[in-house]
Amino acid sequence: MNDKSQPAKATTAKGTHKGHEMPESVAEGGMADAERDILAELDKALGEHIALLLRWNRKLLFAESSPQPDHEEDDHDCDFGAWYALNRHNRLIDQPAMHALATTHQQLHASAKRLLSAHEIDGEVDPSEFDMLALRAESFFAQLRRLERAFRTARSDVDPLTGTYNRQTMMGDLNSERERALRTNTPTAIALVDLDHFKSINDTYGHQAGDVVLQSVAGILQSHVRPFDKVYRYGGEEFLICLPNADMKQCARVLERLRRVIEASPVAVSDEAVLPITASIGAAPMTKSRTVEQIIEKADKALYAAKEGGRNRVRVWRNPDTKPTSEKHAK
Ligand code: GH3
Ligand code: MG
Ligand code: MG
Repeated sequence: MNDKSQPAKATTAKGTHKGHEMPESVAEGGMADAERDILAELDKALGEHIALLLRWNRKLLFAESSPQPDHEEDDHDCDFGAWYALNRHNRLIDQPAMHALATTHQQLHASAKRLLSAHEIDGEVDPSEFDMLALRAESFFAQLRRLERAFRTARSDVDPLTGTYNRQTMMGDLNSERERALRTNTPTAIALVDLDHFKSINDTYGHQAGDVVLQSVAGILQSHVRPFDKVYRYGGEEFLICLPNADMKQCARVLERLRRVIEASPVAVSDEAVLPITASIGAAPMTKSRTVEQIIEKADKALYAAKEGGRNRVRVWRNPDTKPTSEKHAK
């Protein structure tokens, strides 16, 4: 690659941010590597800022004390600003969406800093500043996800029918998620969503109608999960969702919400036919002792229990030694 196409010293997520090692340079291997490294950096930024936001909120709401001044702590736990400053002229990074993300990122930290220092001084939390922090965080996560999607689409990581991530990219992602969950000691779950009696839709209304239903459900899943959850097309009419930072209770809550939205969103497959759709959902937690494949297997067992239990319900794998139990399913 010439100097125009060679991304200028993009840095990887490999340098450990806690130890503040010098960021490594990447992209010597070409465009695919550069994209992969940027994706890793975006993903790291997402994880770091979820953790930061939780910590800021805890400090403001519960006045949890910090071992060091807040501004120092912020700087030590976020590498994104430095990474962007170093790489902003990289051909892949020098684009409006990335610059907008960097601006939102700056504003997010500025909001947090203002809130935390005011809180440190007089114990007060300014409600409008607090709202601003929440809005900026939401916007930061949404922008990150959009950028990630753009990079992933360029890499053909996206299923063309449903727009969810495809199975090829799934195992790598899930293994990284599992590592992150274990490293940061954050509960993370995997869920399988399977449409009920989908075959009969194909049989009665045709394969194309089935496709419309798949697209509709995929849209619902993607727009109703949390910004850091990821939806994959696992198989024909089955989707897998990775839910970082969710214990099984929170996970069941998110999934139950999804189940209800699907149930409440019939799909028009033609001028005459509007079809009610339901889905069964099974979930399992990521654990140290299980591989990703084994966790998916547990989620599949929970899904099977949801089908056996009458469909249109959520089942969560709770205790490895007992059968999957129901968790907050509506029926
Ligand atoms: P259950 O409630 O037990 O899940 O029953 P089901 O009918 O949903 O499950 P089954 O596994 O019997 O059928 C799944 C069907 O999904 C069979 C297959 O033809 C269809 N399918 C798989 N991929 C696609 C696709 O991309 N488009 C369409 N339209 N149908 C698909
Ligand atoms: Mg199926
Ligand atoms: Mg099915």
